[in-house]
Amino acid sequence: MLASPTGADHPDTLLEALKRRIAREGPLTIAQYMDACLCDPEHGYYTTRDPFGSGGDFITAPEISQIFGELIGLWCAVTWQQMGAPAPFALVELGPGRGTLMADALRAGARVNGFIEAAQLHLVETSPVLRRLQGERLEDSGMTPQWHDLLDEVPGGAVVLIANEFLDALPVRQFERRDGAWFERCVGVSGEGGLEYCSAAKFLNTNEILPKSIRDTARNGDMVEIRPGVDAIVEAIAARAQTSPIAALFIDYGHETSAPGETLQAIKTHDYADPLSRPGEADLTAHVDFAQLGHVAGKNRLQVHGPLPQGEFLLALGLEERCDRLMGDADDDTAKTISSGAKRLVDPAQMGELFKVMALTSEHLTPPPFDGAQAPEQDT
Ligand code: SAH
Repeated sequence: MLASPTGADHPDTLLEALKRRIAREGPLTIAQYMDACLCDPEHGYYTTRDPFGSGGDFITAPEISQIFGELIGLWCAVTWQQMGAPAPFALVELGPGRGTLMADALRAGARVNGFIEAAQLHLVETSPVLRRLQGERLEDSGMTPQWHDLLDEVPGGAVVLIANEFLDALPVRQFERRDGAWFERCVGVSGEGGLEYCSAAKFLNTNEILPKSIRDTARNGDMVEIRPGVDAIVEAIAARAQTSPIAALFIDYGHETSAPGETLQAIKTHDYADPLSRPGEADLTAHVDFAQLGHVAGKNRLQVHGPLPQGEFLLALGLEERCDRLMGDADDDTAKTISSGAKRLVDPAQMGELFKVMALTSEHLTPPPFDGAQAPEQDT
């Protein structure tokens, strides 16, 4: 007899699977919960679907306007030139989504002599559904991407790396200060059989987990978030910087200075949802702490550039000029879409301020616009 896929050892929802895991192992940390919700091999949010676009749950900058990917492509090409145009080099994207950003970036990068010929494309992506979409989207580029689960798997040599809205999906742990002690926030099972927040009763050696700056300034009632995955990414970049040039561009929403506060959020069909109510069916993210990213990078002897607000970054790279050129060739309706998309990316009330851009590089590199240089020439 064939085993039923919905049999006792094979729960058909992530909620059921998590309840069994909690019964076996005890409450999950927020990071374990986020990891399961986003990347569970069977039920994870990214593992099982394409969440992007107006018909999906949320929309990202490259899906709003092609100008975003084009300007990032020029950034990659100019940065590569600054490295001395190494050939070959690895062009890496972390969490490429539908592949739209990379497709637009390659089209723009093709205007810089030798850039595409020298590039070997490496995509770090865990979702099989999104890997397939990325392959389809990049078919016309003429490049053959190689996929990896981890940045460490990308071969050595010079690297130009981009990551848009990748860090915000890396799991966070949450710690609460109460009565002068730290408690880790966890997820357990409620009396009604749903999920609920609880505190870990485990003894915590927070001196090893929480940065000193947080431990020194936190007050009773504060909640702080830390993102252990950032350290692993920065360490992988720093290890490469010892032997070859590397420049990594991180774009995400978050804050410039570290501060207490809970930022974990769930998004379903373009609206906020309860992070615990439908595990695996909503996107779960938390703000990126750019001060902490810069601090970890500095400790690993990387050069830190920025953060700059996304609006300032894109305008300095020539967003207005590119927008004018595209609108010049377009009918009225298309021109309106181009203009409103570009505005959404740079308007401080929309994505222009909340989203920030930080570059981490090896020595002797100062990519635009962190070098104060003018926008690169654009012919079409
Ligand atoms: N950069 C894209 C998508 C952002 S969404 C855009 O701007 O549209 C986050 C992306 O990161 C998705 O592709 C998701 O599958 C991927 N991802 C999430 N966690 C990951 C992990 N731990 N390792 C690799 N990829 C991950």
